[in-house]
Amino acid sequence: MLLEIIGTGEAYDRYRVNAAVLVQEQDFRLLIDCGPTVPQALWRRQLAADAIDAIYLTHIHPDHASGLTALLNQWGSAGRRQPLQILCQPGQQAHLEWMSTYAAWPEQLPFAIQWRDASLTTEIGPWTLQTAPTQHSVSNLALRLEQKGPVSHPTGSLFYSGDGRPTAASASLMRGCVMAMQECFSPMEQGEGSHHGDLPGCLRQLQSARPRHLLLYHIEDGQHTAVAESIRSRVDVSVAEDGERWCCITGAPLNARLDQQGERYAAGAG
Ligand SMILES: [Zn+2]
Repeated sequence: MLLEIIGTGEAYDRYRVNAAVLVQEQDFRLLIDCGPTVPQALWRRQLAADAIDAIYLTHIHPDHASGLTALLNQWGSAGRRQPLQILCQPGQQAHLEWMSTYAAWPEQLPFAIQWRDASLTTEIGPWTLQTAPTQHSVSNLALRLEQKGPVSHPTGSLFYSGDGRPTAASASLMRGCVMAMQECFSPMEQGEGSHHGDLPGCLRQLQSARPRHLLLYHIEDGQHTAVAESIRSRVDVSVAEDGERWCCITGAPLNARLDQQGERYAAGAG
């Protein structure tokens, strides 16, 4: 179970790709979130048009979903025929359907989209799926993916918060995960009413949920150094970087990563 970090940026980040990850096991690939700068970051990887089987959208704020139109448009023009699963919240689906229609307008996409209610879905590809709300300005569903398999074997797992401040439910969903990614907009305490995570809150969550490794992302542009400095002495938490790859079974980083030009190291293929 492989985690590839496509982007770690906030909505208007000057340098980082919008926050998104690609999770892969065997031949199944799930893209989580698709902001406006995500499609180009995926095209750089030169994946086949049918390489991604499903997309999970934590919520439909533009920095997490507005790249959908461009991505589906490119897949259509590159000859994709394989159906695509899109998992989202029912109250947000109509907007996404409109974006997918626009992707091929005035024609139709040459592949089918299977819309799935994220909150009712318990399995996706090779994983079980659980969700929990965070505290955000629109409804956002954090998710946990877990490898299926006998409990006697080490199984991979991933928690991804999407956007928003942790809630008791999302903190509980993170508990015992191998890899966890938590939105951490500010290095400073933001207060209980905030719609974003902050470093003190993320560290409290790390203390109680104890994932093997916590990656902080969606940090406010210009605040990465402040966050990284505060956690420099720790081995169980780090600032996520675009292009990093992690093993969701061991919680260890993999050396192969994309360079600045986006070329692929041989070891990173597949
Ligand atoms: Zn948002």
